[in-house]
Amino acid sequence: MKGFAMRSIGRIGWVEKERPVCGPLDAIVRPLAVAPCTSDVHTCWEGAIGERTDMILGHEACGEVVEVGALVKDFKPGDHVLIPAITPDWSSTETQSGYPMHSGGMLSGWKFSNFKDGVFGEYFHVNDADGNLALIPENVSPAEACMLSDMVPTGLHGVELAQVTFGDDVLVVGIGPVGLMAVAGANLHGAAHIIGVGSRPVCQEAARSYGATDLVNYRDGAIEDQVMSLTDGRGVDKVVIAGGDNDTFASAVKSVRPGGIIGNVNYLGDGEYVRIPRVEWGVGMGHITITGGLMPGGRLRMEKLARLVSLGKLNVSRLITHRFQGFEHVEEALWLMKDKPADLIKPVVVL
Ligand code: NDP
Ligand code: ZN
Repeated sequence: MKGFAMRSIGRIGWVEKERPVCGPLDAIVRPLAVAPCTSDVHTCWEGAIGERTDMILGHEACGEVVEVGALVKDFKPGDHVLIPAITPDWSSTETQSGYPMHSGGMLSGWKFSNFKDGVFGEYFHVNDADGNLALIPENVSPAEACMLSDMVPTGLHGVELAQVTFGDDVLVVGIGPVGLMAVAGANLHGAAHIIGVGSRPVCQEAARSYGATDLVNYRDGAIEDQVMSLTDGRGVDKVVIAGGDNDTFASAVKSVRPGGIIGNVNYLGDGEYVRIPRVEWGVGMGHITITGGLMPGGRLRMEKLARLVSLGKLNVSRLITHRFQGFEHVEEALWLMKDKPADLIKPVVVL
């Protein structure tokens, strides 16, 4: 089969591989729609998780089941399914302790385009099919279903990590597709004041439509200064970080009130350390929580998030600015994700 791969750090291209083999608990899926992620860019061009040789890229897809293992109970060939970017082993001890995304070790629930071939292949392998797949609701298109694999669960997980609640002032740093879903999630969780940070007008307009009440351009000055002037010098209750770099934590800490919570879902692609400003962190005693996480994955979450889309509570089409038809366009879509032209939020390739 054909796949679009990371040949080595900084080098991409098409490869020919054997079709993956289905274990007793697994499924083999043919993609119906795929999307490149900014994480593919970190992995491939920054070498953020180290060297990989001819690893098929991609972890955002929906697809059609073509084969299931003998022990799979709830799915069969022909089913159209959502596949989360993170596919934990649901019997692992890490899952039993509440952290499925780390089943098997740190970040090990993230298998596609990390520890095994990803979804930019003619076929791909899904472990623990009953635990990880979910049926696509009838009124959700393949392109929309593809947004449910990573953008929706990750943005919403940022909101969970920051524990956003009714009436909060919330800062969302980064309003690419992940940050936009965090804005939407903060809105669904009852945030009163939502400040989005980004520079591109296409993302700013989308942020407004998802519930941002103010927008800050990080190119116009320090984020924390702009946040202070929008909050009468008080700062925000919660911060979700979905963009920026290692130094963004300093701005987040300077923007949050005592007792505030910072939830990071940004993938820190380079650098050795994250810096926390000592004084604004209350010289270590400000009750400011800093946390970060990979989204959880799994079937129940997929089914629940899909209901938000199928019942019209969350519009994911608004994220899709570039649509392609045909597998051969995967390469073009990935380059778009790397280059981030002014009019891009998210590209999708329908097959
Ligand atoms: P994008 O690159 O599309 O968006 C990044 C956003 O951050 C843009 O709004 C950008 O603004 C803004 N930004 C860039 N630099 C700065 C800065 N210095 N300060 C403040 N804001 C800045 O990324 P995605 O939305 O696709 O993904 C966001 C992050 O989430 C990525 O790191 C990705 O790898 C990660 N991720 C994490 C997952 C998880 O499970 N935790 C899963 C999926 C993704 P503009 O472009 O307008 O200038
Ligand atoms: Zn991703």
